[in-house]
Amino acid sequence: MSRTLFTSRDGGDLKDLAGRESLRVELSMEKLIFMHQTHSDLVLVVDGSEGEPMCDALVTRSKGVALAAMAADCMPVTFTSDWVVGIAHVGRVGLVKGIAQKTVEVMHGLGAGKISAFIGPSICAKCYEVSPDMYEEVTTLIPSTATSFELHSLDLQSGVTTQLESLGVEVENVGICTLENSDYFSFRGGDLSARQAGIISL
Ligand SMILES: [Zn+2]
Repeated sequence: MSRTLFTSRDGGDLKDLAGRESLRVELSMEKLIFMHQTHSDLVLVVDGSEGEPMCDALVTRSKGVALAAMAADCMPVTFTSDWVVGIAHVGRVGLVKGIAQKTVEVMHGLGAGKISAFIGPSICAKCYEVSPDMYEEVTTLIPSTATSFELHSLDLQSGVTTQLESLGVEVENVGICTLENSDYFSFRGGDLSARQAGIISL
């Protein structure tokens, strides 16, 4: 049975190392692995011996090892199955690169059966306005991100949902917009450096 958690502003800034350590103790985990996130499509399989790997998704079969993805408008997405769990940091760039689908492929490669995913607090379709050019570029690649050409805001949550459902993954969305809900850090809302996190462990 896996455990998923999405922290909020109350959980403190998880870019801070002391904050991460107190969260690890609170969760009674041997290891809590954060990533050095770069909006890449790199997925790493970890066992707890890693420091802070440079990647945007983690997968593990190790009990006692919790995986974390930081975000403040981007989507923290957790993945669970019988033997394997994963996590991904999915923003607009990672969505286009297919980081969520790659996480699922790596989990299947490790023997995962049915996979379920959970989309954590992140900026909603109404709030994520981009330039008309960027709107056209992303919606051409991933049509489910479309809202309306007048608004030119992108629905990243819908985009990742269709990507994952096409792989047979069951997707749930916590449905909290980080920009509209002041309990959460939001980059567009002015939190340029602080981050909350999605956490998953077996
Ligand atoms: Zn919103």
